[in-house]
Amino acid sequence: MKILLVICDGMGDRPSKYFKGKTALQATKHKNLDLLAKNGSAGIMDTIAPGIRPGSDTAHLALLGHDPYKVYTGRGPFEATGIGMDLREGDVAVRCNFGTVKNGTIVDRRAGREAFGLDELGKALNVKIGDTEMLFKHAVGHRGALIIRGTGLSDKIGDTDPHEEGKQIKTSVALEPEAKKTAEVLNEYIKKAQEILAAHPMNKEREKRGFPLANAILTRGPGLAPKIEKFEKKYGIKGGCVTATGAIAGVTKYCGLDTKLVEGRGLASDLDKKTDMALDMLKEKEFCLLHIKGCDDYSHDGNGAAKAKMIGKIDAMIGKLVKKAPKDLIIAVTADHSTPLEFKNHTSDPVPLAIYGQTMRRDNTKRYDEIECAGGAIGRIRGQDLIKILLDLAGKTQLFGA
Ligand code: ZN
Ligand code: ZN
Repeated sequence: MKILLVICDGMGDRPSKYFKGKTALQATKHKNLDLLAKNGSAGIMDTIAPGIRPGSDTAHLALLGHDPYKVYTGRGPFEATGIGMDLREGDVAVRCNFGTVKNGTIVDRRAGREAFGLDELGKALNVKIGDTEMLFKHAVGHRGALIIRGTGLSDKIGDTDPHEEGKQIKTSVALEPEAKKTAEVLNEYIKKAQEILAAHPMNKEREKRGFPLANAILTRGPGLAPKIEKFEKKYGIKGGCVTATGAIAGVTKYCGLDTKLVEGRGLASDLDKKTDMALDMLKEKEFCLLHIKGCDDYSHDGNGAAKAKMIGKIDAMIGKLVKKAPKDLIIAVTADHSTPLEFKNHTSDPVPLAIYGQTMRRDNTKRYDEIECAGGAIGRIRGQDLIKILLDLAGKTQLFGA
């Protein structure tokens, strides 16, 4: 048996004025999600732990069976992986902006948010400082990521981004004695990057077109590439992921899932295509995580109408999925956290969960929402336990004891 885990980003909610005191799931019709709950079992889940407000990255680490408190070292490493950089254990990854500096003062922290020429400028920023390799890649917009690779490195270094315009680029400071080398290397790199960028023909081209010069790199949020046991090693099966979100792709790739980063999020996305990709992956792999972005964005915006539409779109996708899926597929549908429409950010409220498949017990749940699922046979579980439950339902776990 194989497993498809569908994660609807930020789908959970609280009672809101948009739905007359109900959650979006309670107030909308979704017969296919209900069918999974009705013909399977339901429960609720604290993706990290009760009372902890999860980020999407830390939640996905937990859903893949890792303790985020042990393995999460900040956004830098997963952002670098998410844009396709080859991050290795021991590397320090740093989030970067292209900025505009005039006479030593930062006049624009985002180089006009203009991405023109930044791919090429980014390529010129791969240099060596002493024995340390500096690997840079442009991401989207004015953003990029830097990997610092070498010996004796630490992520306990300060930002060079002052987070304010009208100031000078900060000198990175060592926050622990062991970080002295890393801070020095980074400071030298920041100077070198300004020389390279100032002399680069692409900046002349930007000037010609009236775009602000991208003549400096600002760094923030350093993180040491964490030690994470890869999926196949940890569980003895192959896994894949389909997502349209770079930060999620970073997490799933780093955890060892064969990850396809696809276009399109929210109401504009082609969910049938994503479903087909996931089912295709399941021909060769035993596990696939299908991540669906949409509900979260609309909840951050407080857009109840769009969230309701997105739930309808997910429901239609589930309907087609159940028809197309092989009989021995276990399907779990949940969220990585709640993003209540009125709060406009992630909260710790547990998310609904339904598991559907031949080996799953059937409980008395009739509807898929935060309250009905709470009465289901799965009860209330932690995110880290979900994958073990799914693996056991698929017959892929070992007996503990005799
Ligand atoms: Zn999320
Ligand atoms: Zn969010």
